[in-house]
Parts: sequence; structure tokens; C-alpha cells
Amino acid sequence: MKGEKKLKDFKTLTITPGMLRELTVISKTEAGLPLYVKKSEDFREVAFAELNFWSLPVCKDSRLGLIPGNLIEKARIEITNKIDLEQFHNTPRPNMDWRKVPEDLIYKFLIYHEVGHNLCGTHPVDFIIMAGRGEITWEEYRIAIAVHEIWADKYAWQKLFPKKRVPTKWASPQFRQRVDNFMKKHSALFSKPHQKVEPLPIDDWAMVPLEHVKNGIPFVTEN
Ligand SMILES: [Zn+2]
Repeated sequence: MKGEKKLKDFKTLTITPGMLRELTVISKTEAGLPLYVKKSEDFREVAFAELNFWSLPVCKDSRLGLIPGNLIEKARIEITNKIDLEQFHNTPRPNMDWRKVPEDLIYKFLIYHEVGHNLCGTHPVDFIIMAGRGEITWEEYRIAIAVHEIWADKYAWQKLFPKKRVPTKWASPQFRQRVDNFMKKHSALFSKPHQKVEPLPIDDWAMVPLEHVKNGIPFVTEN
């Protein structure tokens, strides 16, 4: 009908078994972490992926189920089962234009973004501790979180396009100035050697989050 936005106009990307296999290999080899597919509505806020650093149950061999010794605990990368494209494009970012990420590479970009967070060498929780101790101000804490995001976006973009410049789009000139000032004082926070990664075995049955073994993977079967 004229003037009405039909449901079909809202494009949704969904994760497929083939994509999941490819993304899991990246997560396991480049972050040393299992990959967990989460229903989009189960993310706490609008998010498409997350580095979950809590210890969560993982089956070393999904074929064996819950036998003693088969369960360990690990951090993991979580990825949404579906992405509303309009929502993805409108995600506020500190300095990158996510509209420039080609549609067919969005899932890959998100995985590399989380791999980047993992490799950065600092964790957002580190900044909370530092602010709590008075080593940085709470305003600097907010900038540190933004720099962490900038770092992860840049890492992901360069993994996809090593020769292309990052499509930069600053939230505002003032914000850019605040980031520059912060980095003059605290660049050492982001120049630590990268986190050491111990790759996980890439077999489909190896290192599978327990929920996937018990409940299956929440693939979207219809839009
Ligand atoms: Zn992030």
C-alpha cells in the first residue's frame, strides 16, 4: 500500500550454518574462543556481537555430551542470529561509518571486531578499575571505552580490507579533540603487546558451548 512501509522493506540478515562454520574458525583460531549464537532479542541492549569474558560451560567434544571431564569453562564470543540492517547502519559509532561495511561481510566484520577487542590487550573492566582508583577520571574512562571501540572497528576493517583506509566518520569535532587529548596522555594503555592467543581445535564437534549441545543453535528459519 502506498505510504506504508511493508515488512519486506526492512532487510534482515541471518546467520546460516555455512557462515557459522566460517565464523567459528575465525573465533577459535584468532581469538582462541568458542563462538556462541544468541537470539537477537536476548542481547541486553541493541548489540550484534559481544565478547563475553565470564567463564561459561563448553563441551570439549559435543558428541560425548555431559560425561565427566568433558565440560570446561571459557570466555566466548557471542553473535546474533539475525541483524536488522537498518539498525546496524544506524548504530552510533565513535569514528567509523558502519554503512561502508558491505552487506555480505557484516557478520565477518562483527567477528573480527570482537577478536580485536580480545587482542587489544586491555579490557573495558581495566578502565573501571583505573577510574575507581583515581588513575583516570570518569570522563577519561568514557573516552577509553570509545577508544577501545575505535581500536576494534579499525582492526576489523583492516582484516577485511588491508589496503583500504578506514571509512572514518567522527561523532563531532569536539569528541575527536577529546580522543586526541586522551591519547596524548594515555596512549600507553593501547600499546601493550597483544593478548597471547592459544587457538582451539576447529572441528565442528570441538569446544561447543553447552547450550548449543543441549538446545541446538537458534538459526532463523523464517523472517
Ligand atoms: Zn565493540
